[in-house]
Amino acid sequence: MAEEESGQRGRARVNAVHLKLGPLAGVVKEALLSSYEMACEGTGLQGSRLVIEEIPLVVYCPKCLAPRTIESVQWFACPECRSPVSEVIQGRELQVVALELEAVEIQG
Ligand SMILES: [Zn+2]
Repeated sequence: MAEEESGQRGRARVNAVHLKLGPLAGVVKEALLSSYEMACEGTGLQGSRLVIEEIPLVVYCPKCLAPRTIESVQWFACPECRSPVSEVIQGRELQVVALELEAVEIQG
């Protein structure tokens, strides 16, 4: 996905890919980082860095009628009133949020 986007912006080299990762994305940060280099080999992303921003899990508490940030994915309850919650507002994300590009000079 990131490679496609950089291609659309003309000749530019990707320095870094910034990714948002939620606790419910089903992907472990370490696994992503370790597979990134291999996945980029031979593509326009070769040599770029993967910067992962881990975002917190936010749910909607039906009792407080407010969004709450959950510290642990194992403890799926409102941190204020201890009510069980099920509505996830944020936390499933696995998306590219930014690309750091470096323009490549074309000689000749
Ligand atoms: Zn609550």
